[in-house]
Amino acid sequence: MAEATISNDVQQNLSSNTVSNVNEIPLLTTTDHVPLDSGDINEPPTKKCKNISTDKPRLLEERIGSILSCCICLDLSTLAMFQCVNGHLMCASCFNHLLADCKLKDEQTTCPNCRCEISKTNCTRNLAVEKTISELPIQCHHCFQIFLRSEIKLHQSENCPDRPTNCDYSLLGCTWNGSFHKLASHLIVCEYPTKTGLQLINTIRVQKNSCDEEKKCLETVVDLLSLNQIGVSDLILKPFRTDDFVAKLYFETSRFTALQYQWQVRARINDNTPHPHTTVTRSLSYQLVLKSKISQTIDLKFFILKGPHGDPSTVQIQPIIYHFEFNQNNTETEYLKLPISSQECNRILSSSSISFRLLMVQLDRP
Ligand SMILES: [Zn+2]
Ligand SMILES: [Zn+2]
Ligand SMILES: [Zn+2]
Ligand SMILES: [Zn+2]
Repeated sequence: MAEATISNDVQQNLSSNTVSNVNEIPLLTTTDHVPLDSGDINEPPTKKCKNISTDKPRLLEERIGSILSCCICLDLSTLAMFQCVNGHLMCASCFNHLLADCKLKDEQTTCPNCRCEISKTNCTRNLAVEKTISELPIQCHHCFQIFLRSEIKLHQSENCPDRPTNCDYSLLGCTWNGSFHKLASHLIVCEYPTKTGLQLINTIRVQKNSCDEEKKCLETVVDLLSLNQIGVSDLILKPFRTDDFVAKLYFETSRFTALQYQWQVRARINDNTPHPHTTVTRSLSYQLVLKSKISQTIDLKFFILKGPHGDPSTVQIQPIIYHFEFNQNNTETEYLKLPISSQECNRILSSSSISFRLLMVQLDRP
């Protein structure tokens, strides 16, 4: 399917360019199909145009491919495929994006094709579709050869002659990159293997600094874990809405006890910017709130990790250690970034609650 679509698109673009040059119409025809591309729902940026007009009969594989493609991104997905009660297919990425968008807008999610209600409980995976897609051929996006889906990963990462490659001496600072088949001729002329230690020492120093920084973060975690007063809390953030005219979605845990005090965690999306559903990238930030009355200062370091009861496919969260001194007047931290990708954020938003682990370490007063 991919090959036919690409070549037809190219042909259309070429011919419309030529037409517009002759008639001196400023490229209107090339953008004609853009509205098709951007419907009223918020789609992932990779959305493609369905190729409707085909003069020549298409191969069976292409026809099956277009039947099994996701009704939102029109791609043949390598991810799980979900279907609405009427059988319309959506890839996992679009499905999560749609659920997250509607949750942000406080609307019922509906199938883009038939407008029936969709949710995690009334949509099912379609294994037959997933298995059929896995049997269909796929085009390598480096060399454009056709492969079996089961072979493409290995081909693109290890065997494709056009796969992007760095110079063997990139660790020494050579910034060359290009197709794998051009590497041998670069290595003949690459000047890095003959450089002296004096010429390379600065590059190595920069690399050592970045390794040292990572090491320091891990050492801090280990140091904190050996301190006396540690609180480990496995928490669930549940969705709520503000009473504003345009209600905003936010998340909150119930109150919990750690280190003999009462706490609560709040989280918000895209730092509370208005209309987060209109954005493509999403982020989550959180705030730690002290709920107990205190007379002395609490000097606290804390970080968030993946929780043990959450979705097992949640990615590991890199620990970012925050430091805050709680006192009578300062009982809330700022909103702090959670280091997760936008796609991971959508996946979290599409589920009913967010499970995570909070580690708090109280520092001893000197
Ligand atoms: Zn999709
Ligand atoms: Zn439907
Ligand atoms: Zn290839
Ligand atoms: Zn090189």
